[in-house]
Amino acid sequence: MNPSDILNPATLVGLREKFEKDKLKPKKKILKIPFAYNANNQLIDVSTANKQDQYKCSCGEPVKLRGGEKVISHFYHIGEKVCSLESAIHKAYKAVFADIKKIKLPYFINETPLFEFDRVELEKKVGDFIPDAIGYMGDKQYLVEFAKTSFIGERKKAKIKKINLFCIEVTIDKSATTIEEIKNHLVKDVIYKDIINAPMYSEMEKLAVAFTNTMEELSLDNTILSRRNDKLESDNMTLLDVLKGYTGCETVEEMKALKCDS
Ligand SMILES: [Zn+2]
Repeated sequence: MNPSDILNPATLVGLREKFEKDKLKPKKKILKIPFAYNANNQLIDVSTANKQDQYKCSCGEPVKLRGGEKVISHFYHIGEKVCSLESAIHKAYKAVFADIKKIKLPYFINETPLFEFDRVELEKKVGDFIPDAIGYMGDKQYLVEFAKTSFIGERKKAKIKKINLFCIEVTIDKSATTIEEIKNHLVKDVIYKDIINAPMYSEMEKLAVAFTNTMEELSLDNTILSRRNDKLESDNMTLLDVLKGYTGCETVEEMKALKCDS
């Protein structure tokens, strides 16, 4: 194409038509899904899968393993179905977390760098929303969110603060292709993790109560001191009046100038 042709309106119309046509063409994009589920609904990555067996994709459709020599190993849909790689990884994160039941924190909380849960529940409603996962330590609930493209917004944050549960948001690593990588992210890394809400813990509660008590005591002391001060001031004034009457002086300066003869 000649550069001057670009300015020609007829060329622009032609380009637009071509562009629209290309958009309508079906995309034959092969999705290299790194995760699938076996007959027992266990998460499988390409390292443990074999080419004979049929697996299930995160979208529920059957997939099989291929690749290994020229192409990197991946699962492919037997049918024409196209699903999202993002949701496959998101679901894999949830499955790994439900399996290992622990998460490394971005910083120490309650003097621990790692939360280990007794059990984990996925996609269970709490308050008026459904977190990706809930970890339980005793009867205490800890929310875990795995963020892909939509991070926790102000509305969801408000909902979490309202129910006042601990909540950590893990930003999923979209390039993760193995269960090991996801495991490492969950239990070893401190990055790509945000504490969305940390309710008041028992130690903080004790400190807050102690602080309030001390403040009240100090304020009471202050009131007593202030009253004593007022009393001293008024006594002082009375004494000054007596001295004024006795010496006939009007000011303290005049009194100081007096000489004691008798
Ligand atoms: Zn799928």
